[in-house]
Amino acid sequence: MSTETAAEGVLAGLGNTRVWQEAFYQDVHQHPELSHQEHRTASAVSERLRGFGFEVHEGVGGTGVVGKLRNGAGASVLLRADMDALPVKERTGLPYASTATAVDAAGDSVPVMHACGHDVHVTCLLGAAELMAGARDRWHGTLVVLFQPAEELGDGAKRMVTDGLTDLVGPVDAALAQHVLALPAGTVGTRTGSVLSAADSMRVTVHGRGAHGSMPQSSIDPVVLAAMIVVRLQTVISREIAPTEPAVLTVGSIRGGTKSNVIGDRAVLELNVRTYDESTRNTVMEAIRRIVVGECQASGTPSDPEFELFDQFPATVNDAATTERLHTGFTAYFGDRAQELPLQSASEDFSDIPEALGVPYSYWGLGGIDAETYRAAEAAGRVAQDIPVNHSPLFAPVIQPTLDTGTEALVVAALAWLGTDWTRRLLLPCSGQNQRSTATSTGSRCSASLTRITCGVASPAAWSITKGCAASGGSSTPVDGSPLSSPEKEIRTSCRVEDERLRSR
Ligand SMILES: [Zn+2]
Ligand SMILES: [Zn+2]
Repeated sequence: MSTETAAEGVLAGLGNTRVWQEAFYQDVHQHPELSHQEHRTASAVSERLRGFGFEVHEGVGGTGVVGKLRNGAGASVLLRADMDALPVKERTGLPYASTATAVDAAGDSVPVMHACGHDVHVTCLLGAAELMAGARDRWHGTLVVLFQPAEELGDGAKRMVTDGLTDLVGPVDAALAQHVLALPAGTVGTRTGSVLSAADSMRVTVHGRGAHGSMPQSSIDPVVLAAMIVVRLQTVISREIAPTEPAVLTVGSIRGGTKSNVIGDRAVLELNVRTYDESTRNTVMEAIRRIVVGECQASGTPSDPEFELFDQFPATVNDAATTERLHTGFTAYFGDRAQELPLQSASEDFSDIPEALGVPYSYWGLGGIDAETYRAAEAAGRVAQDIPVNHSPLFAPVIQPTLDTGTEALVVAALAWLGTDWTRRLLLPCSGQNQRSTATSTGSRCSASLTRITCGVASPAAWSITKGCAASGGSSTPVDGSPLSSPEKEIRTSCRVEDERLRSR
């Protein structure tokens, strides 16, 4: 029997997939589309998925696409990529840089750029879909690939859910997604628990009294009022939130007045809040209102301030067991290129999907910056200054090894639930005294000497009951004594094999 893992088997086709992926990526990069306008991208995605043999549903929540590939009984895994670009003028100087413009929701013509790297996500997920479809003897179960619109507005996932996503997708065991980040290309980073912040944007309108610039005594100056609010808001995080609790409050935009000698009658501030904890979120939002109202009273404004919430994102909190399984797969495949992802202050609406489906999820980071460039900046202590991050007009993921790594990561992640060899590799947990089980690419190992081992395998949905086998002295018996169907026989056999392997050590 071949010792090749399922991942190695599926990824043997990467050499062919890579050829069209690189061209496809550059094409999508040159044709970025704003949130809810991803028509060209969505139809390119649908066409390719159909070609790979997926059942394809288009127009889900607007421009969303869901592809489904059934491959016998087993678990079901959902992989998600977002598709939208940003109103940013690209300044990367790349030969395939975007010069595109589009009309935004407000009716203005704006430059458009894939400044968040969602073109990487689309390309990698399509590549993974082709590879999985081309190696169906290496896995069983159902693969769901989801291409989501409008992540940048925070409502793309919700719109897919409202449009009947749950019925369309069916039962799923795990939902997974990745994001390209300003980290060394070739690496992937997982993180258990909090990984991305919750985000809230708030528009605050304060009212003053307009007058001639030479007669301030007749005015209530909204520009001075807005300036005081901006300064006072700096104390929310620094004075009201514990230093151990991460939170961000940014005033991203301030608009007031039209001319140097005219005192206007209003000012509008746009704020952005990032938090990881619901009570911190409430404290910050409440403090903002209190300070704005207080400053308006101090200025004696003729009417109350107005508050409008928009672009709200939930916190992303990775499930521990799902992330552990993912990390085990990544470590086996990538070695030390599988790392721990630092806590991110950005936000995502991905978690709206698993929340609606009622399934655990994990979201990991994918490096996109040339590794040497990154290391040099790191050595000089200049990462923050020299490495353009997502949303920068200079953000430019290197094509390779970024696309390869992102594609490999998705395949390895899916196979952690669907791979034919996974049950042999992941025999968790070990029950017994002081035993710790570690899955490796060749098998599962327990760190303490064994007298008895219980191997349990999380059951794919189709098997309805989680069965395991208790092995003692090299013999194994099914825990519940019920007849074994063929996949379970595999498990039972592997338990015996693993047990013998452990005893022979
Ligand atoms: Zn973004
Ligand atoms: Zn993004």
